[in-house]
Amino acid sequence: MAQTYSIVIKGGHVIDPKNKIDGILDVAILDGKIARVAENIDEKEGKLVIHAQDLYVTPGIIDMHVHVYYGTKMDQGLMNGPNSVQPDAFSFRSGVTTFVDVGSSGWRSFPDFKDQTIDHSQTRVLAFLNIAGEGMRGGPFEQSTKDMDAHLAAECAKKYPSIIVGIKLAHYSGHEWEPTDSAVRAGNLANIPVMVDFGSSEPPLSLDELFMKHLRPGDIFTHPYAYFPKTREAVVDENGKVRPLVFEAQKKGIKFDVGHGGGSFRWSQAIPSIQQGFIADAISTDLHTGSMNSGMKDMSNVMSKFLNMGLSIQDVILRSTWNPAQIIKRPDLGHLSAGSEADISIFSLSKGNYGFLDIAGEKMKGTQKLVAELTIRAGRVVWDLNGIAVPDQK
Ligand SMILES: [Zn+2]
Repeated sequence: MAQTYSIVIKGGHVIDPKNKIDGILDVAILDGKIARVAENIDEKEGKLVIHAQDLYVTPGIIDMHVHVYYGTKMDQGLMNGPNSVQPDAFSFRSGVTTFVDVGSSGWRSFPDFKDQTIDHSQTRVLAFLNIAGEGMRGGPFEQSTKDMDAHLAAECAKKYPSIIVGIKLAHYSGHEWEPTDSAVRAGNLANIPVMVDFGSSEPPLSLDELFMKHLRPGDIFTHPYAYFPKTREAVVDENGKVRPLVFEAQKKGIKFDVGHGGGSFRWSQAIPSIQQGFIADAISTDLHTGSMNSGMKDMSNVMSKFLNMGLSIQDVILRSTWNPAQIIKRPDLGHLSAGSEADISIFSLSKGNYGFLDIAGEKMKGTQKLVAELTIRAGRVVWDLNGIAVPDQK
């Protein structure tokens, strides 16, 4: 009998929130695309058979907040500098198939980022363009309002519509709203969302004004669980109550992205938020050299934190696949519909005694941890922790 499929994944617990799939099913892949998700696909039909009993099979994970414009300009931070990281070194081993770099490059530096990193990565790398022309070059480069050009940013975004999915404003420490508004103007011109990393102005600017007067429905506020008392209003007040304004913002359609990072995730903000129902729409890492070896670690660790704070595994997967795909307006990603690119993650869920650190070194104990067992990108196995894609040798 001819083998119909290149890969058949047998017997895993498939979670595909977009298609409301949550059960033991098989997945068939052909020509780099999802062919079928169904019960009892005959394993004889697969050239390669992956046994996924007791494992979770999910759409390829989307981490919508990373910094991967790595390079050798040692004084340039996240922009072609030493603080960004190589995408393939961190993605597949954590179940991630799509990284979204948020603002490391701007309209002036994006072509270099594309040539140097995006075009040479197996990981799908998408980008938010910094409204500052240079991107995250640090210091005065991110403060120069003269270099924040909505028209040039929008033109660049429209030139690369398959890669550029948003506009970013970050690290601005002035008290004018013009940088926010010019990012939104660029977003309007290119019809893409804006992400704001807000929190460098002392005293802080008003979050209520940001959400209600400046951002549009669909725009993104990152680092919601950060705590910077001098420069940014916290989402949880001194009495441990989530401030009503974030629920109002969610009602308006503002999206929240975790952006854990090396400084932006505190249990004192996250735990009461989750308990009181303020849950970030997208789970993401803010991966860079300042977060990779600290409390953040990697995407599966950040997903595990939310699992241990009480989210169901289905909800964690939703917020790491279909939610971010919708936020970045890429409905082709984040699900296992037949015909879509075969980006698939397979996780085990380990039970035991674990500790999870926030950015201040405070520990939350937990009992479960997601481990990326196998990752498939465009129909190819790109990560196989325990050799489950290789038949046992006789
Ligand atoms: Zn960031």
